[in-house]
Amino acid sequence: MHAAAALAQSALRPILDFALPPRCPGCAGITGEPHRFCLDCWSALTFLGDPCCARCALPFDYGDGAELLCGQCLARPPAYDRLRAAVAYGEISRRVALRLKYGGRPGLAETLARLMQRRLDAAGAPLLVPVPLHRWRIWRRGYNQAALIAAALARRAGLEARLDLIARVKATPVLRGLGPRERAEAVRGAFRIDKRHREGLAGRTIVLIDDVYTSGATANACARALKRAGAGRVEVLCWARVVKAEREQA
Ligand SMILES: [Zn+2]
Ligand SMILES: [Zn+2]
Repeated sequence: MHAAAALAQSALRPILDFALPPRCPGCAGITGEPHRFCLDCWSALTFLGDPCCARCALPFDYGDGAELLCGQCLARPPAYDRLRAAVAYGEISRRVALRLKYGGRPGLAETLARLMQRRLDAAGAPLLVPVPLHRWRIWRRGYNQAALIAAALARRAGLEARLDLIARVKATPVLRGLGPRERAEAVRGAFRIDKRHREGLAGRTIVLIDDVYTSGATANACARALKRAGAGRVEVLCWARVVKAEREQA
């Protein structure tokens, strides 16, 4: 219930955000309308789409419409079935994610949800589930940014969201600076789906919501927990996906 309480508490804050003149989510310059980026920030964002790996959305230089997989997905298929992301991880998308996460700007979740909705496949009425934060982090920060995004997306798309479906039972270290293997090790056994939540999960398509996708360690650990609990298909939808050398900094 911590997530729900934190969400209720933070639900009041977007009103404060919008009592002030609308600001660009990237550079905080004043803009004409809420949720709009200024032209400079907008043109600095790299929107992701086809052609890309059918599984992990790694952009390809060219494609012929066929479902192709990248080398990494062929060698070691991820635990999730498909990932989609709104933008590539870069200077502006990183700044927006950080301001949502640490900057006390929960209203930005709505901005991200608007852009992520383009990449959401609502067919079959999937269940939206955020990557959870450990309760210590929620206490410190006041909210889980992924839960705010999931709630905004659910409202916009008319889908169901279950904000407390996955529990984070292990406080994991910040993964920044760790290599892929260390990341996978750090999140091992960190996520659990309580028995009382498993009802109605059998065969269901889940869309796992997160802000930033880096090595996939967290998304894969969550996807494994969801599948163990009976989920039929697990898709991942995130705001920004690391696509190249930024991987080390994320
Ligand atoms: Zn800007
Ligand atoms: Zn791939």
